[in-house]
Amino acid sequence: SVDKEKSGSVAKIKVVVRKRPLNKKEISKKEEDIISIKQRLNSLTVHETKLKVDLTEYVEKHEFVFDAVLDEDVSNDEVYRETVEPIVPAIFRRTKATCFAYGQTGSGKTYTMQPLPLKASQDILRQMYHTHRNQGFQLFVSFFEIYGGKLFDLLNDRRKLCMREDGKQQVCIVGLQEYRVSNVDSIRELIEKGNATRSTGTTGANEESSRSHAILQLVIKRSVDGSESKPPRSIGKLSFIDLAGSERGADTTDNDKQTRIEGAEINKSLLALKECIRALDNDQVHIPFRGSKLTEVLRDSFVGDSRTVMISCISPNSGSCEHTLNTLRYADRVK
Ligand code: ADP
Ligand code: MG
Repeated sequence: SVDKEKSGSVAKIKVVVRKRPLNKKEISKKEEDIISIKQRLNSLTVHETKLKVDLTEYVEKHEFVFDAVLDEDVSNDEVYRETVEPIVPAIFRRTKATCFAYGQTGSGKTYTMQPLPLKASQDILRQMYHTHRNQGFQLFVSFFEIYGGKLFDLLNDRRKLCMREDGKQQVCIVGLQEYRVSNVDSIRELIEKGNATRSTGTTGANEESSRSHAILQLVIKRSVDGSESKPPRSIGKLSFIDLAGSERGADTTDNDKQTRIEGAEINKSLLALKECIRALDNDQVHIPFRGSKLTEVLRDSFVGDSRTVMISCISPNSGSCEHTLNTLRYADRVK
């Protein structure tokens, strides 16, 4: 929206909703698609079936408007063009940009998020070699996970990491491996390696990964005076965050203690994230980072010239109605 364009030509905060198609299981269970979209109006309606006291059914409609609403036939390429592509040039000018995928487990967060860093690094490398030729820029990749409030390096055998602040509002994750990359193939390899290292446990990939936040960062650095001997300095950063399943934040009454602890941490981090984005949008001086590990890690991405894209993923089936409404209300609060 126009009023959000506080600096430059790209909005500071952009909230996009993406709907996935019904899957085979939902179709075989004759579940209905309860989401209708008017893409050109950036609007979406949830058709919720409710019961009257006499148990007759009626439909309650909930309409939402966002910066963009992407229907089920929108490709990953189009998602990239709508979300991340516009912010790539800014990271050469010290901007810190963050792209989140939010939503319940199974709504399409990972499907949406996985191709984005690769497409972005393709563009970054192209701009490094053309628009910013011979200016000493270098690209680095790191990939880690926050699980139960702890950090694990996905590019270094899940090595446990800790976080420090250097007093200049720079976050330092001690021991995090950063790989310098100069071509798309090596980036693809690193992303695949990291994805394979995400928490999987015994119950299947989606089950366990739904309890963790996966954070992939592309950092642009520049060698000082073109000198290769001094360590390069950080310029801009682009972070991709595949958030834990939003429904996991409600696991706080589960019978299993570990699940309860993880649920509480997820709940805390998603609430803190919402508060930080809202504070950012209101140009508040005090940003409440300290609320969770996730927001502390992202601290340096919430100060200075920053950009945030939130992609809220929703499932279309009637059985997900309550989770879908929760996701849309969260996105609405962020907006
Ligand atoms: P999440 O990461 O939110 O738990 P996934 O990304 O794993 O969800 O998606 C769940 C399933 O739905 C996967 O099998 C995925 O391939 C499929 N899916 C998700 N989004 C789409 C989409 N937009 N189009 C087609 N299939 C999708
Ligand atoms: Mg996932």
